[in-house]
Amino acid sequence: MLSEKLQAIHKEAVAAFNAAKDSKDLYELKVKYLGKQGPLAGLMREMAGLSKEEKPLFGKLVNEVKQGLEDHYSQREAALAQAELNQKIATEALDLSLPGPVRARGARHPIQKVINEVVEILSRIGYSVRTGPMIEKDWYNFEALNIPADHPARDMQDTFYIDESHVLRTHTSPIQIRTMESEKPPLRILAPGSVFRCDSDVSHSPNFHQIEGLLIDRKVSMADLKGTIAYFVKEYFGPEIKIRFRPSFFPFTEPSAEVDCSCPICKGKGCRMCKHSGWIEIGGSGLVNPKVLAHCKLNPDEWQGFAFGFGMERMAIIKYGIEDIRLFAENDLRFLRQFEA
Ligand SMILES: [Zn+2]
Repeated sequence: MLSEKLQAIHKEAVAAFNAAKDSKDLYELKVKYLGKQGPLAGLMREMAGLSKEEKPLFGKLVNEVKQGLEDHYSQREAALAQAELNQKIATEALDLSLPGPVRARGARHPIQKVINEVVEILSRIGYSVRTGPMIEKDWYNFEALNIPADHPARDMQDTFYIDESHVLRTHTSPIQIRTMESEKPPLRILAPGSVFRCDSDVSHSPNFHQIEGLLIDRKVSMADLKGTIAYFVKEYFGPEIKIRFRPSFFPFTEPSAEVDCSCPICKGKGCRMCKHSGWIEIGGSGLVNPKVLAHCKLNPDEWQGFAFGFGMERMAIIKYGIEDIRLFAENDLRFLRQFEA
């Protein structure tokens, strides 16, 4: 009786396994026939009614059938998995030429781009970069640069004071002093960086950027200065750009000159940027004041030098035609993305 039932269960389970459409279907059949609620488990419970001699023989038979079904299940499972994989490969073809997801790339800030370009142009004629602290001693920011205590530039209106003897540097000139103190001439250095003044409107920002150049050597003249600036301006704005010097006064240079270049936008014809004059002011320059050299323990009879300084925001404004200096500090992505490479 029981062995007939066993044969019937075996036959039915094998047929069901063979008919399974996919591995999920097959697994459900395994639970149905081989699980704890399945017919084989039921037969084991029915064995209670058998004699002492019959029990082990029948138990062995049930286990053999169970083992056989499990083996059959494993074979079917492997076959179905392979078939499913083949199906997947055939239908889900990968197009390797499809573009990947686009990632937003960062870009250099326009001011940093200008600094990098100025440094690159001047490094070709032997200049290299020096840096210094933004919180600066009074001596380096003013005194050593021949800016005495009663000079108007020291006014609280213009300068951020940290305490009585420290300021947020108002120019990058302190780096010139520090370099002359710590290195032996001849020198050709560039001092780019952030500077701070109490000023804020369309054309003034309390934090802006400068790059200064300093050359110290023997027998340096205004002609050397003018030649250097002419070279720089032509490299930066274009070969057709002219420069002119206007006499000026700075405490740290003597003589001093403001530097204008012919307007790169209208080529000198006159436009809004150059206020219809055809010329644009780009910075200040001059021969290093002998008093400054002496403060740095250089003998003015032996060493001379020239210095020049450009505002980086001003250079960017002229080069890219930007009208409001505050745009550089607002971090508006619509503005910044226009400068991506
Ligand atoms: Zn113009």
